[in-house]
Amino acid sequence: IFDEYSIKSQVRPVPNFPKPGVTFRDITPLYQSPRAMRMIADSLIQRYVDSPITHIGAIDARGFLLGAVIAYELNKPLVLLRKPGKLPADALRQSYQSEYGESALEIHRDALQAGDQVLLLDDLIATGGTFLAAARLVKQLGADVYEAAAIIDLPDLGGSRLMQDADIPTFTLCAFA
Ligand code: IMP
Repeated sequence: IFDEYSIKSQVRPVPNFPKPGVTFRDITPLYQSPRAMRMIADSLIQRYVDSPITHIGAIDARGFLLGAVIAYELNKPLVLLRKPGKLPADALRQSYQSEYGESALEIHRDALQAGDQVLLLDDLIATGGTFLAAARLVKQLGADVYEAAAIIDLPDLGGSRLMQDADIPTFTLCAFA
């Protein structure tokens, strides 16, 4: 059973990180808790086990950790959406404006093809820029985003709303409003 209170109480607010005025939601205590991780993974596995997803698209870097667990359990291919300059083979790049400045994601061109149904995974939605860039890359390769899922939503930053407006189905396990 998913215990939202237990998950939220293990997210540590860090004031003024990475810059003054921003309170960073540090999820490393969740990753350090086997019980919390199991609860998070089990909830996501239950949600997608009978879905038509064909691939897990995991976002650099905290999304990788979640993505690996879910891809293993669902027995699906794990596709990496990486920060620029990390992927060695032919890649597509999408730049975007993040909460903290200019950023970009890349994906290998041969990682997906038309008809693939991708579950995008990351730890947290803030302004939505990261997931929106990831979704653009998936679509440029002809694949579809089945859903974009994260552990945490920060709805005050408007990202999940922007994603809904862009017709990207979005799911989060809990929110800090
Ligand atoms: P967005 O692109 O503004 O939605 O920011 C989400 C991305 O930045 C995700 O990849 C998160 O890992 C990271 N991020 C932004 N703010 C936070 C935070 O407060 N805690 C943890 N990760 C964050």
